[in-house]
Amino acid sequence: MNVLVLNCGSSSIKYQLLNMDGEPVVLAKGIVEKIGLTYGSFTYKPTGKDKVVIEQPIVDHSVGMDLILKALIDPNYGVLKSLQEIDAVGHRVAHGGEYFSESVKIDQEAKTKIRALGEIAPLHNPANLKGIETMEKLLPAVPQVAVFDTSFHQTLPKKAYIYGIPYEYYEEYGVRRYGFHGTSHKFVAEKACRILGWDITQKKIITCHLGNGASISAIDKGKSVDTSMGFTPVAGLVMGTRAGDLDLGALLYIAEKEGLDLAKANTLVNKKSGVQGISGVSSDFRELQAAMEQGNARAALALDVFCYNVKKYIGAYAAVLNGVDLVIFTGGIGENDDIVRRESCKDMDYLGIRIDEQKNKVRSTDAIISTADAKTTVMTITTDEELVIAMDTVRLSKN
Ligand code: ADP
Repeated sequence: MNVLVLNCGSSSIKYQLLNMDGEPVVLAKGIVEKIGLTYGSFTYKPTGKDKVVIEQPIVDHSVGMDLILKALIDPNYGVLKSLQEIDAVGHRVAHGGEYFSESVKIDQEAKTKIRALGEIAPLHNPANLKGIETMEKLLPAVPQVAVFDTSFHQTLPKKAYIYGIPYEYYEEYGVRRYGFHGTSHKFVAEKACRILGWDITQKKIITCHLGNGASISAIDKGKSVDTSMGFTPVAGLVMGTRAGDLDLGALLYIAEKEGLDLAKANTLVNKKSGVQGISGVSSDFRELQAAMEQGNARAALALDVFCYNVKKYIGAYAAVLNGVDLVIFTGGIGENDDIVRRESCKDMDYLGIRIDEQKNKVRSTDAIISTADAKTTVMTITTDEELVIAMDTVRLSKN
């Protein structure tokens, strides 16, 4: 069974085609970028063959999708003989609100709900829906599945998701903590338990998904009970360009001083803040480390702030869980950056967390990085959100 996995943004489409018959195999993947701009770009990489890059205007999502489908069956570099070999399509959908605590096969009702949630996720859900509707036109006979970033966190208890604001805003507008990166948090927790031979329903786990966007979750007996992102992904950790937790009074003060309207305030906290804002150097951790090594004090400070944030959330969630058996690092930073892992876990003996410097040198792999005698196991686990989407798509499209 071949599954096409799509992640449609407002101006981009990331895609992967996977064969799911035995051990999952990626047949091809790539990205359509700069949709709607004067110069668009289409990248296609069939596994084991050279990458194809086409630069051309891509006026809308349907032109982008068309490029993807044509590439997949191209006589020279395609990986399928015909489009009939695509058996199902899985979509990453940003916001499932309180409607979706699981992935769902797409029907009229699911689309109506995804559309309604565009109200609280205006940057993502309309683009996700556009992807779904375009695929329905291009491949009308093929079942489609939606996998939500929020659904794993629907098990949060009310005390963890209600904000300290008038309750009517929750009732009327759905303003509450939802959390994101759910597929990744769930996937790495389950994968780690499989590797360790543990029963997840007996364990207390803290998962740190550290990428451009970053969030931490507390997972009790396999269920998410708290998570650092909130109503939107801007909350929680200081991130690449997002502010994370911020005194709202500080934002109001800056807005007044700088004469910021809502759109500008939004850009400030989402695009100009985080380690980029602190360092003035970059949002990329490799560039920050390089700048720090050259003596850039603000790059060093940005890394320090980031690791301190991660550490605080680990401590907070150990309190939430009444202890912790396993801490997992994942995402581009969590999987690769040994300094961030080491510094975030520094001086946490009281929680039984102790990193083995030698074991911690690993990159992009699944490994234990805590010392043999540490009470709490610390691991780095590679995440694979596309694989989760493909697996859910196989399961649901067969029903
Ligand atoms: P996204 O949220 O866009 O999916 P990723 O999970 O791909 O992000 O993570 C991107 C981040 O991972 C960047 O900050 C990048 O610097 C960092 N990263 C990737 N490789 C390394 C590495 N070898 N060392 C340190 N940081 C890395």
